Amino acid sequence: MELWDSHCHLQDERYGADVGGVIQRALQAGVARMVCCGTREEDWSRVLELAEGHDCIVPMLGLHPWFVGEARPGWLDRLGELTRKQPLGIGECGLDFAIENPDRPRQEQAFAAQVRLARDLDRPLSIHCRQAWESLLQICREEGLPRRGAVVHAFSGSPEVARQLQDLGLFLAFGCSLANPANKRTPKALLAVREDRLLLETDSPDIPPRHLPDWPPEGLNEPRYLALVLETAARIKGVGVLKLAEQTSQAAERLFVNV
Ligand SMILES: [Zn+2]
Repeated sequence: MELWDSHCHLQDERYGADVGGVIQRALQAGVARMVCCGTREEDWSRVLELAEGHDCIVPMLGLHPWFVGEARPGWLDRLGELTRKQPLGIGECGLDFAIENPDRPRQEQAFAAQVRLARDLDRPLSIHCRQAWESLLQICREEGLPRRGAVVHAFSGSPEVARQLQDLGLFLAFGCSLANPANKRTPKALLAVREDRLLLETDSPDIPPRHLPDWPPEGLNEPRYLALVLETAARIKGVGVLKLAEQTSQAAERLFVNV
């Protein structure tokens, strides 16, 4: 069984020298591919370096909505140049209106530009979205998506939004928060996602499974915990673990093919 972690950040400096161990432990746990998403220009070279050294890593580069305010002029041209040169995806990009004082127009501009780039080059696109669903749907409709589709990672919207996004050709990804018993909303959204549009992720080192009884307070998430997401998703959907593993791997292969 080859599992895909469809969204993680192995370049994160909190892993330090242990990143090799993180990758090894993931492979041992059956996570065969890890989609490593850049978040700002400063971490792009590290993402590329990791992908160069490890066949299991699928690289993506993007500008995350949290960092649009500090991006250096010309970032989009440099992203375009890097992307044309080699097989890589676009992301993490998106819209986050849940942060304090979001600069909505600037976020929308940066996001729309990255959607266009992914569409023009037909590359996979990884989207972060919080409390900005109307705007997300509008930009995806106006710009058009890559033919292969795109993914909204760590999906936190309603079942209705989940249906609208799937109608547009988007995949939806779920992570460890699904397994947190305090989270009642996400399992409902999961039930609105078709198996061929569903992806699994960890968003490592973030969103760790903090609800686990002996989870250390400062513990970092790792792609090896994907099995927990898979088992939880299978239980909620009432399908077999192996069946869901196969379906989600096939969905990931469709989205990330040739990258
Ligand atoms: Zn992320």
